[in-house]
Amino acid sequence: MAKRVIVCGAGLAGLNAARNLLSFGFEVILLEKSDRPGGRIATELVDGFKLDRGFQVVNPSYSELRRTGVAKKLDLIEIPKGVDIRIASQTFRVGDFRSNLGYLRDDLSSSTGKLSEKLKFLAYLLRRPEELSFGEAAASFEGFFERTLKPFLDGVFLTDSRQISNRVARELIGWFIKGNPVLINGGIGKLAETLSEGLAIEYGAEVISVSEKEVVTKIGKFDADAIVVATDPVGAATLLGQPVPEMNSCTTWYFKIKPDEIRSNHLRVGGIGPVANSLVLSNLLDDCAPEGAGLLQATTLEDCAEGEVRDHLSYLWDRDAADWELIARNEIAGALPRHGAGQGLVASAKLGNGVFVAGDWRNIPAQQGALLSGRLAARAVNALLSER
Ligand SMILES: Cc1cc2nc3c(=O)[nH]c(=O)nc-3n(C[C@H](O)[C@H](O)[C@H](O)COP(=O)(O)OP(=O)(O)OC[C@H]3O[C@@H](n4cnc5c(N)ncnc54)[C@H](O)[C@@H]3O)c2cc1C
Repeated sequence: MAKRVIVCGAGLAGLNAARNLLSFGFEVILLEKSDRPGGRIATELVDGFKLDRGFQVVNPSYSELRRTGVAKKLDLIEIPKGVDIRIASQTFRVGDFRSNLGYLRDDLSSSTGKLSEKLKFLAYLLRRPEELSFGEAAASFEGFFERTLKPFLDGVFLTDSRQISNRVARELIGWFIKGNPVLINGGIGKLAETLSEGLAIEYGAEVISVSEKEVVTKIGKFDADAIVVATDPVGAATLLGQPVPEMNSCTTWYFKIKPDEIRSNHLRVGGIGPVANSLVLSNLLDDCAPEGAGLLQATTLEDCAEGEVRDHLSYLWDRDAADWELIARNEIAGALPRHGAGQGLVASAKLGNGVFVAGDWRNIPAQQGALLSGRLAARAVNALLSER
């Protein structure tokens, strides 16, 4: 009879752990407290708009995503590999000139940073990353960092990117260089739905405690030969008696705009105000807005008033945002684990007594980290159960 493994939590880490455990031949039960797969990957329908629960992009080059093979089942829409930065009421379009030579002019402009600093940044990318904060590592290209990199990366890390681990920054910048981020027609929730195909998931099964070979949930007890805890970072650390990670939070604001009001399909950053980034999603996605409407997202990182968001958006998009209809405001308290300098990149999945752990807090704070941690936990379970 196949040995049984219970996976707690059907986010990307739990889903990938379950998929890998099934491929090793185990009986797998996935326990999920909510009524859907995906955790922080979710899409909701609001007044005919398809809104992701927090703006996020997918990088099809993530090695772990490629391993799953699900990308080919999704309708992926490439986002331009460049960003519009607003500096002193002007817009500079910078980006990967290998994808678009049109970026070269502003890549080389002194307004986006000194050329000498840009060359130092390239040299930094070629060095082995030191164990520092990203802010410390960026000291030799400070001006370029402040003007161009930070406005973009704060929205990636959902915090002041100076504070995060230089190793994490390097790894994520590396994925941006390798790949071309995409959005998904139908919403990011499609990624989770596709990853969950063929898995047996018990919904409404909130895990209350985990011990050797037993999981207690609100709907009953489950026995297993091994257990993988892949609930959210704070929840998992609490269940397992581990140090609780600090989390970054964010809010995504969704506004209805006129379909042709803004033509840009580039992410827009910069200026002074609460908005970390903004994008007109309906200029890229076919089906995120109902007929006759456009959809714009703005992500903020700190508490702020709606008026401040509108003022900053007016500056960013160079038009009056006062009358845009607010469709939704998604506050996400535990959006990303804060990965500081000195914290290793991959924490062990094995905790002892047949209990394993997965989640983006055990790896890099991104879809890649969540998926990888799930696969590593499955591999560690397989190593334990095959030696018995
Ligand atoms: C706003 C936002 C923007 C992001 N942007 C990007 C991006 O652009 N690119 C990128 O790569 N990554 C991005 N990320 C990060 C990425 O979404 C996460 O790293 C990843 O989804 C985490 O997956 P996880 O499985 O580790 O955790 P989670 O998604 O938190 O999954 C945990 C699961 O466990 C369940 N659960 C919790 N407690 C219990 C319990 N007691 N019992 C049973 N089940 C339980 C939860 O309901 C959930 O389904 C972003 C995240 C957010 C929130």
